[in-house]
Amino acid sequence: MKTLYYSHPDFLLHNTGVGHPECADRLRSIATALDATQFANLIRVSPPLGTEEQIRLIHPLFHIEAIRAAIPEQGEYYLDNDTVLSSGSEKAAFRAVGAVCDAVDKVMTGRADNAFCAIRPPGHHAEPAMGFCLFNNVAIAASYARRHYHLERIAIVDFDVHHGNGTQAAFYNQPNVLYASSHQMPHYPGTGYPTETGAGNIINVPLAAGETGIAFRQKYSAIILPALRKFKPELLLISAGFDAHKDDPLASIMLEEEDFRWITQELMCCAESYSESRIISALEGGYNLDALAASVAVHVKTLMGL
Ligand SMILES: [Zn+2]
Repeated sequence: MKTLYYSHPDFLLHNTGVGHPECADRLRSIATALDATQFANLIRVSPPLGTEEQIRLIHPLFHIEAIRAAIPEQGEYYLDNDTVLSSGSEKAAFRAVGAVCDAVDKVMTGRADNAFCAIRPPGHHAEPAMGFCLFNNVAIAASYARRHYHLERIAIVDFDVHHGNGTQAAFYNQPNVLYASSHQMPHYPGTGYPTETGAGNIINVPLAAGETGIAFRQKYSAIILPALRKFKPELLLISAGFDAHKDDPLASIMLEEEDFRWITQELMCCAESYSESRIISALEGGYNLDALAASVAVHVKTLMGL
């Protein structure tokens, strides 16, 4: 497989302050892991800055302007209890959008099979900015792909341990985007009940605190994977959060690296059948630096077909 790996120093400029779990070291630990010789064939891409036009596919102009207006010249500004802005946040957030849209272009035009975007800030909580998220990178990528490549069926699978309320809201009544999420419940942000189904295009699969990879795999095999096969997506996007790992400090699901290998393989299998193997995966959460690096390494290795 030809796999793209997006990274950029601008992502480190979003400074969330001392002790914040969503920190620049997350990307440093991923970069170190992906420096290993087994990743020599990764195609390393330095993404362009995203544009206001791309962001406005999902967010109104006042959302962008409110973030710009709140950015401090120095130090941190808290938009809510856990969503922080620093002087470099605008650049990082625009660059994250640029990465996922560039990945859509490269994968849709056949220059690569799949892509992993090691970006921050994450995105899937953003309808307003919340939960560490400013712009909803993956939702923007889906909307961008639909607009520019006229796709009729795009699937987003979100295995981050938190429910992607922003992504669900973006596509709630849009049957040409399937949004499927597994997440700990009850847990932040409080949405993601199985009864939230939109136009039949929203699939929420809650996991109880303490559940392991066995339950995770059973639920994907019983609910999400059959729904994907029925939907036959022309492009598969992954909100790849690794905070369902057993060592993650922000949640209580007990996945191991092998579970991330399994779900990546299953999604690749689906993509091979319906989307000419096209997958774009974008980083969401994952807050234990060692577990995050090891899980991303397994995920990317699997995307590469290794
Ligand atoms: Zn998360």
